[in-house]
Amino acid sequence: MYVTVEDIARLSAHLKITRAEFRRRYLCGAAGRLRFSKPRGKQCPFLLADGCSVHTVKPLQCSSFPYWPELLAKASERREAAQFCPGMNRGPLVNIKAAQKIAAQLQKAFPDLYDEDATDRVRTAVTGRGKVT
Ligand code: SF4
Repeated sequence: MYVTVEDIARLSAHLKITRAEFRRRYLCGAAGRLRFSKPRGKQCPFLLADGCSVHTVKPLQCSSFPYWPELLAKASERREAAQFCPGMNRGPLVNIKAAQKIAAQLQKAFPDLYDEDATDRVRTAVTGRGKVT
């Protein structure tokens, strides 16, 4: 998961540690492309047996799923994501305009990610409910 500076501020406050400590403990990557450190084969450090331990303050990339630009753009991507996300295609329908608004927030937060290779880089899914209409 990639994180914004707002995500870092919110998560570090929630965990009652400094932003620098949060960055040291949980992040890797360069400024503008900071993401959770996650050893290969491991889950997100905040995923516990009963779910996301930072649910109320989780990163934008998590909270915006499945309304990611690449998923809205391609039905095949949505079908693939739905294979591992039990929340997709369930629950009340979500208006496409509302979904696009969420996707636009993500694009604005991570302009570098939404080039032609975006789909491969941000494929990791988390949780989500609703269905794109
Ligand atoms: S929603 Fe999932 S990926 Fe995001 S912080 Fe929570 S456990 Fe981690």
